[in-house]
Parts: sequence; structure tokens; C-alpha cells
Amino acid sequence: MTKIVSLIGYPLKHSISPLFQQSAFDHCQLDIHYQAWETEPAQLSQVINHLRSPSVLGANVTIPFKQAVLPLLDRLDELAERIGAVNTIVNQGGKLIGYNSDAAGFLRALKEDGEFECRGKRAALLGAGGAARAAGFALLEAGVAALLIINRTLERAQTLAAALRGVAGRRGECPSIIVMPWEERGLKEALSSCHLLVNCTPLGMKHSPMEKESPLGRELISGDALVYDLVYNPERTPLLEEAERAGARTLGGLAMLVYQGAISFELWTGEKAPVSLMFEVARQAVRE
Ligand code: NAP
Repeated sequence: MTKIVSLIGYPLKHSISPLFQQSAFDHCQLDIHYQAWETEPAQLSQVINHLRSPSVLGANVTIPFKQAVLPLLDRLDELAERIGAVNTIVNQGGKLIGYNSDAAGFLRALKEDGEFECRGKRAALLGAGGAARAAGFALLEAGVAALLIINRTLERAQTLAAALRGVAGRRGECPSIIVMPWEERGLKEALSSCHLLVNCTPLGMKHSPMEKESPLGRELISGDALVYDLVYNPERTPLLEEAERAGARTLGGLAMLVYQGAISFELWTGEKAPVSLMFEVARQAVRE
């Protein structure tokens, strides 16, 4: 019987996960169909319940449901529970287990593709949504000394900072975690001392009304920093162009997307993911 893995989010039109996940299943000769299930918020609990069917191996969860699915699952993996967000669900005999592969994907890309060592460094996050939560958590786990969270809605940044301070406190660590509103005058100075700047907003994302927008102009970007844009389409985003002009090193979001997808693949199938092939398909999809 053909098994199903679904992608649950809204909207889903521009997601490239179905392309590289299906290619990976086919490459490994697995009889699995990856299906995009565009889901209105009101249908979420019904759709999640459907994952309990024996023909379904699990799902990926994306914007805007990474936090909303938590109470609908039977169990959370320890990491997903600590982060407070789920992007992968596994159906284990009718019980739904939630995982988070975003944090590990984020870190693997930063280390391997960005050649960045986090320990003792100062990092800034632009945004305070689901991606920023996974990134902030991963950076603390990897030993950053300071985290600056900049967000349009200040309260959301404060909520994230409080959650991250809780995580750090339980580990007996006390990195500096501070919050700044986007328009703050001291932004340039605060950013100038950061070794890493991560865009966790959708600004610059292709096919969106914000596709031409960079979250920061080059005058605010330090030439000594690594600028990591989680937006993966286009590969060279407006922020990365500004960063290049400022003389900074850059890293796009495609590697994180593929690495988090590879971890999810391994959770559903128990087999090693064909990462090079997934990269190839993902890269081709964003270049079309
Ligand atoms: P989210 O939970 O909806 O959070 C979006 C964040 O962006 C919020 O902090 C929001 O600020 C901010 N934002 C949205 N529009 C803005 C605007 N016009 N001006 C300034 N700030 C704005 O989304 P998410 O799940 O964190 O995803 C964020 C981005 O990361 C998306 O582009 C997604 O594709 C990307 N992502 C990439 C990967 C990868 O593997 N490469 C993985 C996950 C996510 P407010 O709080 O003020 O609304």
C-alpha cells in the first residue's frame, strides 16, 4: 500500500518541500507519496486527526501552524517541547509524535555551509516568530554569549526572550538576551558588535508582496558579520545583496531547508536521507 506524508500549512503554493521530498522517496525506491494539504486554520484539528490513519507515515508542519499543532498531538519529543514548536509529525501506530528539525537544520547549515563557530559569539535575530524561536534556541544550545532580538512587534520579542532565558537558566547558563524595537536609534551600534545576523522574517521572499524588501540597509550591516537569511527563495535575497555590498559574508536559507527536510525524512522512513540529491532538486526549483 502506498504510504502518505503530508505538508500542512497555509498557504502552500510556493513550498518546494514536495519536490525534494518526493525525489528523495523515489530515489530510495520507497512507495511514499508526499502530498501538500493546504489547510485553513479552522480545519487544523480535523486534518491533524487524519494523520492517525494507517496509510499516513507523518507530516511536515509549516507557517502558520508550528505552535498551533502542539495541543493536538499525543506526545512531544524532548527537543520540540523545549523549543515549543513542531515542524515534523510521526504517526506511530495511531499516536502522533511531534518533533522539531528546524533547530538542527539551522545549526548544521551555519556550521557546515557558513563555517561559523557559535561559542562565545554575539548574534542578532530579526523577527520573533517560529523560525526565530528555533534559531534562538539553537544558538543558545551552541553556546553564543549574547543574543539580540529585533522585532516589529516588541511584545512578541519580549515573549521569545523570556522563553529563551528560561531555557538558558535551566542549563545553568546566563547569556545576555536583549530585545530592541525595529526603529530604535541605537540599532546600528548594537548590530556593529554582532558576529552573526539572522533574518527570521519573510522580507525578501519571492512571490510575496515583500519580495523586493530588505529588512536592513547596508549602512546597518557590519562588514565583519556573517549574514544568514532564512529566506531560501530567491537564493540571493535583497538582504544578502545589501550584506555583500557592506563587505559581509553571507549564507542563504536553502541549506537549512534541505537539512531540516533530511532529518524529517529519516524520522518517517528510518532510512538515511539522500542529502546531495535533495540539495540538487531544491536548488533547481528555486532557480526556475
Ligand atoms: P512567523 O512565525 O509568521 O514569523 C514572522 C516574523 O517576521 C515575525 O517576527 C514578524 O513580526 C516578522 N514580519 C513579518 N512581516 C514583516 C514585515 N513586513 N516587516 C517586519 N517584520 C515582519 O514566520 P516563521 O515561521 O518564523 O518564518 C519566517 C521566515 O523564515 C519565512 O520566510 C520562512 O519561509 C523562513 N523559514 C525558513 C526556513 C528554512 O529552512 N530556510 C525554516 C523556517 C522558516 P511581527 O511579530 O511583528 O508580526
